[in-house]
Amino acid sequence: MRAALRRRLLQAVHTDALAVFDGGVWQTRCLHCRRALSLREDGEALGTTSLEHVVPSAWFGKRAAAAFTARVGEDAEDPRNLALACAACNHGKGCSHDARGPGDERAREVVSALLDARLARWRDAGPRD
Ligand SMILES: [Zn+2]
Repeated sequence: MRAALRRRLLQAVHTDALAVFDGGVWQTRCLHCRRALSLREDGEALGTTSLEHVVPSAWFGKRAAAAFTARVGEDAEDPRNLALACAACNHGKGCSHDARGPGDERAREVVSALLDARLARWRDAGPRD
């Protein structure tokens, strides 16, 4: 797995209030379905763990998404915009919502709810970062 992806997965888990580090493995829950997910200490994703961009990367720079992108600092790779999700949940969101773009009302609802959930789980990263 690419180093940049491992680093982003670790940033997401370090700033996730639900994440606990136990036995060399990070344990947390999918942002969508709350299924248990795990990540190795070096950032290698285990099982179906994948990196979710809560506000889709393609929405950045689009006027209709400005209210969302402002909440994560105008950077798709900001840790506030990163979360762990099941590959299936992540892929489903990407296909059914993200692709419609920020002009779609249902897509905005889904992204808004996920962003609220992500920011509610935010914690400042510890000395590991
Ligand atoms: Zn899930």
